[in-house]
Amino acid sequence: MNKPFCNALEIACELAQTHLDGLDTAPVACTTDLQTLRARLGKTLHNEGLPPEQVISELAADVKGGIVGSAGGRFFGWVIGGSLPAALAADWLVSAWDQNATLAACSPAAAVVEEITGQWLKVILGLPDSASFAFVSGCQMAHITCLAAARHTLLARAGWNVEEEGFCWAPRIRILASDVRHGALDRALRLLGFGSSQIVSLPTDALGRVLPEALERELRSNLTAPAIVLLQAGEINTGSFDSFAELIPLAHAQHAWVHIDAAFGLWAAASPRYKHLVMGIEHADSWATDGHKWLNVPFDSGFAFVADPEAHRAAMSHRAPYLTVSGEARDQIDWNPEWSRRGRAFPTYAALRQLGRKGIADLIDTCCEHARALVTRIGSLPGAEIVCEPILNQGLVRFPHPNADAAEVDHARHTEDIITAINATGEAFFTASNWKERRVMRVSVCNWLTKVNDVERAVAAAAKALQVKSATVASQSAL
Ligand SMILES: *Cc1c(COP(=O)(O)O)cnc(C)c1O
Repeated sequence: MNKPFCNALEIACELAQTHLDGLDTAPVACTTDLQTLRARLGKTLHNEGLPPEQVISELAADVKGGIVGSAGGRFFGWVIGGSLPAALAADWLVSAWDQNATLAACSPAAAVVEEITGQWLKVILGLPDSASFAFVSGCQMAHITCLAAARHTLLARAGWNVEEEGFCWAPRIRILASDVRHGALDRALRLLGFGSSQIVSLPTDALGRVLPEALERELRSNLTAPAIVLLQAGEINTGSFDSFAELIPLAHAQHAWVHIDAAFGLWAAASPRYKHLVMGIEHADSWATDGHKWLNVPFDSGFAFVADPEAHRAAMSHRAPYLTVSGEARDQIDWNPEWSRRGRAFPTYAALRQLGRKGIADLIDTCCEHARALVTRIGSLPGAEIVCEPILNQGLVRFPHPNADAAEVDHARHTEDIITAINATGEAFFTASNWKERRVMRVSVCNWLTKVNDVERAVAAAAKALQVKSATVASQSAL
């Protein structure tokens, strides 16, 4: 029997398993430089093609050392997340099935899985049952989707049809946003045609939470212009949450649209232990979160939710004579910014079923415990300092320069040097960030694979890096 896919897929499956099985022992950081990668991968593209299995084998060999160990349990940089086995396997099937999940007619199964998964997510995340949703490529695209609905509604109230008349001469919308917001919001706004001068940055407290009196003052300062208020669940450095129960009613009293950046923080809602952090969040007008971070679905997974489905549909829907729209099914094109797209809900469906509600809560709780252990233990090592203990799964430490007369720049450089030294051990991986004028090391735990032993290894790597570095600094000062 002719099986044209068989060899390439079998090789890929074996290579994938070797990679995943090796995560526990392989260095987390890259071991190959860009120049080597370019030399290996920059092959001559010949006129004649190659057998698929050769392409795949060579690809895997050529990227060796250039694949970051972010799928594994010792990666604590940025906010990345891993992949659950069921989610990863479903993602492979999505590629094999190669469905165009734009209309139910293109793939009834993709449409139905999306319908069901969207309902499940609303229950798990504590969002209104009546909210509409979209499965998008990530949280930034979820912002774009939600903010397009916000723009539609606020301008419609001002008598302006933005879908018809465009945005050029429309009434000006004010954006009031946390001063420690994620840059994905600025990019989403820019792509929708908002300029940075339309954004008012609201001051925040020591943990990065919007000050209620600041929001109230800004809302009061202009009672006529329509406004969008951007709040966040899970600040990327401290993991802090805005006080939704207090802020959302303030914004709604002035008829503002409230959108929440909840890329990873919304998952607190799935844990009985942490859901108090999102209290009142269900009263917002739209929410953006990720599947590819904390739910541990492979990349290309974000979720947009809009309280008013009509606003959402008005901003996204499109009709053309050749589209076979369904009266009964949910056509994704009515809710999504993309046209052709992969069957993105399948891996999320699989992840939710693999974990179950208790498994999701356990994933959240365990990651938070590991984050707390990493921050308190690394932060208590000689030469280290805790900057922010985790509220959730993110926290901060720094490494002050040992010299008594060291300035902030020296502490910053020293902190970066220690991070580089930790990452060079291959045992753990962290990234630097800025928090309130200080350079810090950020700790993020959002992978189901992280275990107690990974925390031990990371703490040991930090201790070693600090020892080596302090010996170097001491010998330099002795000179
Ligand atoms: C990661 C992140 C984003 C961007 O999400 P993508 O899925 O990368 O588009 C936005 N906000 C916060 C708080 C994040 O952590």
